Amino acid sequence: MAGECILCGKCMEVCPLLRATGREELGPRAKADLCRVLVEDPDLLSEARVEKLAGLCLGCGRCRAVCSQGVDVPMLVAGLRQAHPDFKKWLWKTWLVRARELWSPGSTAARLIPKQFHTERFGPMLKMLSGLKGGPGLTPFLKIASFPDTVRGENMLLFAGCTATYVQSRWLMTALKLLDGLGVDVLPGEFKCCGSGLQSAGFADVSRSMAEHNVAVWRNAGKPRVVTVCASCKAGLEGYIACFASDEEQAEWGNSLLPLSEIIFDTECVISTPIHERLGYHHPCHATGVDRAGLFLHYALNGIIEMATDRECCGFGGVMRLGAADLTEPVNAACWDTLAGASVVVTGCSACIGQLKATAPHGVRVGHWLELIE
Ligand code: SF4
Ligand code: SF4
Repeated sequence: MAGECILCGKCMEVCPLLRATGREELGPRAKADLCRVLVEDPDLLSEARVEKLAGLCLGCGRCRAVCSQGVDVPMLVAGLRQAHPDFKKWLWKTWLVRARELWSPGSTAARLIPKQFHTERFGPMLKMLSGLKGGPGLTPFLKIASFPDTVRGENMLLFAGCTATYVQSRWLMTALKLLDGLGVDVLPGEFKCCGSGLQSAGFADVSRSMAEHNVAVWRNAGKPRVVTVCASCKAGLEGYIACFASDEEQAEWGNSLLPLSEIIFDTECVISTPIHERLGYHHPCHATGVDRAGLFLHYALNGIIEMATDRECCGFGGVMRLGAADLTEPVNAACWDTLAGASVVVTGCSACIGQLKATAPHGVRVGHWLELIE
């Protein structure tokens, strides 16, 4: 795939890592070129150098979305990571695979660690961990006045994602109440993690076993539509390949994925309490195409979202956060520059929420847009 790169540079215009650091060698074109060279001559670079380069990608997917040649740079980087495993990746894998056991106690433990141990190096990660778990969340002020009948009576599965399932039960409850209001019958089905974080970190085998499990849950339920509440989860589910009986089934799966923001788009909302906050919206990198969550909020809030990101990535970066946090910082700073002045920031991606909560300026609160709904 790397060999198909024509070095046009289109991807360079959208890479948040390149924009924030100004370092061309961190951009997608350089990565595609590096992968091509390594296929031709695997001994060209030392193991340590390849391992380092493999860590330097946020996995945001913005380059993939604009490439006319179908070059998937995050996938190429995932391949490099798979071929050059290290401890940080193992740590990341354990954290993702054992979400059920680790996330809730890990978040509680991080809250108990005194502030003096939040060093420059570990402070942001501890803050992110402590912000993972419930807490009071944002104050809701958006009331659904009436639901449309567009999906009434339909059977659907809910893919809530690890964060809503294990640590943010409020998102899960609000999503279920919205589906109930829409008249959707939510079918039972125990999904596992979408596997996208593992895929991106280079654990293709573990990711694939999760994909196979999730596709089996969907098949057993009769292939209904699958509602998602997290942009990164949806992108991960969309990326499933090689676990389908045919191309038609793969297309069926892709077509079944449905963001909750899309089906509540036509609900009538009222603002139940006067808002004294300045609201910001963060557009997640993985919300490709029309960002229905952003649009829903724009109309539901009658245009009172005052600032919104568009090209800016939150700078989370998964495994890159563990290995090269210093390079993610300018990406994150550019995101907050765009949101400057907001006192509440909402978004529709659990990874972005974790990162933005951990890095929010003093007094700024961050949450899922679901938290705004009463
Ligand atoms: S990866 Fe795609 S968009 Fe980027 S330089 Fe190569 S062909 Fe152009
Ligand atoms: S996935 Fe994002 S950070 Fe990585 S090269 Fe592409 S645009 Fe840049």
